[in-house]
Amino acid sequence: MRIGVDIDNVLSNFNEVLLNDYLNHDKSLRNNGIVNKDVYIRKMFDWPEEYEKEYYKNNIERLAVFFEPIKDCSKYIKLLRKEGNKIYIISGRDNGEYSDPYNMTINWLKKYDIEYDELILTNAYNHQEKADICLKNNIDIMIDDSTNVCSKCTDNNIKSLLFDTEYNKKENRFERVNSWEEIYKYINNHEQEKINVILDTDT
Ligand SMILES: [Mg+2]
Repeated sequence: MRIGVDIDNVLSNFNEVLLNDYLNHDKSLRNNGIVNKDVYIRKMFDWPEEYEKEYYKNNIERLAVFFEPIKDCSKYIKLLRKEGNKIYIISGRDNGEYSDPYNMTINWLKKYDIEYDELILTNAYNHQEKADICLKNNIDIMIDDSTNVCSKCTDNNIKSLLFDTEYNKKENRFERVNSWEEIYKYINNHEQEKINVILDTDT
């Protein structure tokens, strides 16, 4: 099976690092803390929109150094590859926010011993691009925390699994996974179903 895997909030703890930094930075501003907790981190604070955009753009590369892997992703990706699956890491980091997104990402994956067969970077602000990459590479299943990406994949008949985060809980259109252990089990069950279908048609 060809498995598409997003990086931020699927392999990396992006949201955790971003929220900690925003909480800290807010203290140096008006220190009003979180004023809107039902929205994404970037809109939780009372910072002017333009200020937040500039702050994000100027700091995301600094913060990326602190990203750590999601629990057990390295272990289960190794198992999935050992069992014959191909891992396509597809991340929206090629969007002008990082000076050298490819090398930054390759080094991070190496540092945390995360194996893969292909690494493809897209523009995070173009959700259709990930679906197009999936189609081009015959991806059987895409794992992403973005509801927009899951939606575009589904529109293009690509099975998607929504990786659970604080910020996508209201979404109920997609199958949801909470951990890499769950992803591993899901894919193995799915493989088993495929094998059963083949056996059925044979007999
Ligand atoms: Mg993501």
